[in-house]
Amino acid sequence: MIIVLKKNPQPEQMNRLITWLESMNIAVHSIQGETQTVLGLVGDTTHVDPEMLRALDIVADARRIQEPYPNASRRLHEDDTIIPVGDTQVGGGVFSVIAGPCSIESEEQICEVARAVKRSGATMLRGGAFKPRTSPYTFQGLRGHGLEMLLEAKRITELPVVTEIMDLSQLDLFDEVDVIQVGARNMQNFELLKELGHTGKPILIKRGLSSTLQELLMSAEYVMAGGNDQIILCERGIRTFETATRNTLDLAAVPMLKKMTHLPVIVDPSHATGVSWLVKPMAMAAVACGADGLMIEVHNDPSRALCDGAQSLKPEEFDDVMQSVRAILPYAFQRTGG
Ligand code: PEP
Ligand code: MN
Repeated sequence: MIIVLKKNPQPEQMNRLITWLESMNIAVHSIQGETQTVLGLVGDTTHVDPEMLRALDIVADARRIQEPYPNASRRLHEDDTIIPVGDTQVGGGVFSVIAGPCSIESEEQICEVARAVKRSGATMLRGGAFKPRTSPYTFQGLRGHGLEMLLEAKRITELPVVTEIMDLSQLDLFDEVDVIQVGARNMQNFELLKELGHTGKPILIKRGLSSTLQELLMSAEYVMAGGNDQIILCERGIRTFETATRNTLDLAAVPMLKKMTHLPVIVDPSHATGVSWLVKPMAMAAVACGADGLMIEVHNDPSRALCDGAQSLKPEEFDDVMQSVRAILPYAFQRTGG
């Protein structure tokens, strides 16, 4: 971190600042120019807030040189993180496909979709039991009962399951869930993230509707600071001025995130577009740009889905997407070095 002092700083104020920094085991190197003094800080500055420094009378500017997310950063952890999930893994050259309905609607529905997506080659099953809906008057999910149905589908198909948590009070119900999803709307629920840091379960964090990549990585950092480094990041489209699609899929986020972090990155073309026929081209584009996997909504009868029917694929459409994905995968992995 670098601190630029205002012209002619009061020596006692400057000494007080240096003593305070040194008390945190930070070495301070002062560079005296003709008119300006710059302090170079060496050591662990994670707990030093540049904004707080900028508020000091003698400070003109304070900037971090290293990222504020040491655990998630590629700089300190060069190798890709591989996350074991059941008999499979996320990252490390295995292409993960998490498929299933937006919401669990009945045991028959989730089991039927689970069997179908497994046949087509999905590596994990998704299904929402706690649903973050924009309107309180729409289907809110089957909650605890939904989770039981999801676990039944897991027993039948042996697919690991991914499902969303919305509140800490639900955590006890997630014992047999393989991957806990934090949805876009909860990406900055810091109390939730902190607690998930103590679970030892893989956490799938979806990018917030208007979140920068740094903010997404700070959310991962919250979980990692608690001791859980099994994080999967998910690009699911962001809010822009465009209305033709539900969101705007930011595919550049994939190679950019892979540069910034060692954590695996997957893409959700369903929520990113909101339109079922756009899922296939965007899924293939995600493969081409180096994603470690996909999350795709599949429903046995999308026209009757209680949530997100317009973006859900029929099982046979999902099968077609899987065939195309498989066809380009070897080429994509070779090209991106994934
Ligand atoms: C979901 O995956 O069902 C979901 C609600 O996604 P997001 O949080 O990305 O909107
Ligand atoms: Mn959905």
